[in-house]
Amino acid sequence: MEILVIGSINIDYVSTVEKLPKKGETLHANSFEDSAGGKGANQAVGARRLGANVSMIGAVGKDAIGGRLKDSLAREGIDVSRINTVDVPTGNAIITVDKNGDNTIVVYSGANFEIDNKWIEDSEELIKKSDIVVLQLEIPMDAVVYSAKVAKKYNKRVILNPAPAKELPQEIYQYIDYITPNETELQELTSIENIELGVKELLGRGAKNVIVTLGEKGCYYLGEEGTHVVDSFKINAVDTTAAGDSFNGALAVALCQNKDIKDALRYANAVGALTATKKGAQTSLPYGKEVEKFIIMK
Ligand code: ADP
Repeated sequence: MEILVIGSINIDYVSTVEKLPKKGETLHANSFEDSAGGKGANQAVGARRLGANVSMIGAVGKDAIGGRLKDSLAREGIDVSRINTVDVPTGNAIITVDKNGDNTIVVYSGANFEIDNKWIEDSEELIKKSDIVVLQLEIPMDAVVYSAKVAKKYNKRVILNPAPAKELPQEIYQYIDYITPNETELQELTSIENIELGVKELLGRGAKNVIVTLGEKGCYYLGEEGTHVVDSFKINAVDTTAAGDSFNGALAVALCQNKDIKDALRYANAVGALTATKKGAQTSLPYGKEVEKFIIMK
């Protein structure tokens, strides 16, 4: 079970404040935390904790935080040999959250945007030995399209999590086996509000299977294995950060295990739901044993 994630590695700086700052205003934070993030890294850690062999292609800066993030991925047991260290700061997100849970987020792509086609090309050996390749949109679009194209050249299955939503070039659809937008991303990709029609639009563009994640409602699938609406699990949601990332990591693991799509989606729902029961991004990603127990208990 070899999963390759090609994507972003970030550090998130999170301050909690009474109210969000206005232009020119200086506020004192009530608390502060930094935590490892980036959709690529979250999905890689998510899949690894479920028992898969995981490699990552990505980039961090030469700064101390870049080294720390790469080391922490290596400690998870992820192959970090193709995480480049470049002369641009590590990607970060500066987040303020007020007492109502509203937030402001400024993302600096930094090193993530140094991933180019050459780096992907030089990493072809990893693509060749993987069973499934997982992509998101926090690295340059050219690199995403090229990665998907190379993966298809070697007949690998490709999952594209189109987050954060960006317009996709038509070329990429032919390389995508599973595209996994949430409801907002589906609307942004298609300009269509109705979920079923939006999904059909993506199939029309050439994606083979579409999975729309629906938060507490679970997910909706349309593709080669028919249509399925798969309910999520009832939980007490504490923080849904990284729920989508863990869902994608789990989907990759389940597909590698050749589960049929319904079972794969049930498993991914369980992992997404469990992630929502804990605070934080990578800290909230569950391990395989926890997921098994959770599914049995439900
Ligand atoms: P994103 O985090 O990308 O916005 P969603 O909110 O759709 O994505 O969540 C991804 C998946 O996580 C859902 O499809 C579902 O399986 C699970 N999930 C998220 N929130 C909840 C919740 N409150 N209760 C149960 N499952 C949830």
